[in-house]
Amino acid sequence: MKAVVYEGPYEVTVKDVEDPTIQDPTDVIVRITTTAICGSDLHMYEGRTAAEPGITFGHENMGIVEEVGPGVATVKKGDRVVLPFNVACGFCKNCRAGKSAFCLTVNPPGAGGAYGYVGMGPYSGGQAEYLRVPFADYNCVPLPEGMEHESDFALLADIFPTGYHGVELSGMRPGDTVAVYGAGPVGQMAAYSALLRGASRVFVVDHIGHRLDIAKDIGAEPINFDDGDPAEQITDALGGEGTDRGVDAVGYQATAKGGEEQPAIVLNQLVDTVRHTGGIGVIGLYLPSDPGAPNEHAAKGELLYRIGRFFEKGQTMGTGQADAKRYAHQLRDMITEGRATPSFVVSQNLPLSQAPDAYDRFDKREKGYSKVLLHPGM
Ligand code: NAD
Ligand code: ZN
Repeated sequence: MKAVVYEGPYEVTVKDVEDPTIQDPTDVIVRITTTAICGSDLHMYEGRTAAEPGITFGHENMGIVEEVGPGVATVKKGDRVVLPFNVACGFCKNCRAGKSAFCLTVNPPGAGGAYGYVGMGPYSGGQAEYLRVPFADYNCVPLPEGMEHESDFALLADIFPTGYHGVELSGMRPGDTVAVYGAGPVGQMAAYSALLRGASRVFVVDHIGHRLDIAKDIGAEPINFDDGDPAEQITDALGGEGTDRGVDAVGYQATAKGGEEQPAIVLNQLVDTVRHTGGIGVIGLYLPSDPGAPNEHAAKGELLYRIGRFFEKGQTMGTGQADAKRYAHQLRDMITEGRATPSFVVSQNLPLSQAPDAYDRFDKREKGYSKVLLHPGM
């Protein structure tokens, strides 16, 4: 089959690789109809992780079930399914608690599994014609037949539930004010989720104008950090008060005004942005180690976080990979019923063969490249 293969920093190619096969009775093989490129793929693409050349990326996948293992009970050949990015068993202690991103079975001692992601188990990615899905009864989320809402449903594999999770981690309640740092696809989904959940005001911070425009279009208030301290801009807009909630959808690759990489800047600005006793959700990625970091502490994953100020303000913080499966069924039903249309963030629908060019442009955050969907059958 054709697959996107990582060749080394800043280089992917599309070439023939072996078809996946059923390895365990609980596996299915899915023919991919839509797979997305994620900001999380770029950490590997840029060579900032231990990802080895030869692997196939792709943790945001949907398609049609092609082959079913003898131990699968509920999924049938021909079913249309979306695959939340956490590969998980469904029966370990963490999965039972809804923490499918920390499955103890697929990747002990709990780092969680994912398709096509370094350090997250042996599972190949779905930027390919076919994908093996383990523990299929748990990992396949069934979708209505046909092709309707294809781009909306594709976002259930990661960024829609991940954005929703960021807001959930912050403890958001209806009527709250929310600040989202990062207007990438994940930040857009966090802002959209806050609005869906009844936020009174949502601020979105970035410095890429065309990304801030998308946030404005959905009803959020854009804040450009090149115009001055974003925490000050937001608290000024609120008459001196902080927001009730804040979400970090940037992660360790945050830059300061001027473009210098400053990994902890968003975490510290959130402490200033959010009011006393408010809540913060961190979904932007922080690596346990980062060889490309700007200093030796950051390279070991140690960041200068103003814990004293955080403590003084009595804030709370939730972190981690998102338990995408936990929200996927409800968010699917909201899409089906026309109450959510997350595909406003999708900028391109391309054949798989155009992946190398799409990676390059998305990595450069080129105008018009907010979220790329790839279609192996196109
Ligand atoms: P992206 O790189 O496209 O978006 C990040 C945005 O942050 C960019 O628009 C950038 O301009 C902006 N930014 C940089 N510095 C900033 C600052 N100081 N203040 C405000 N904005 C700033 O990536 P994405 O696809 O939107 O993903 C965002 C993060 O979420 C990545 O770290 C990704 O790995 C992570 N992620 C986490 C999960 C999870 O399960 N927790 C899932 C998916 C993605
Ligand atoms: Zn992703």
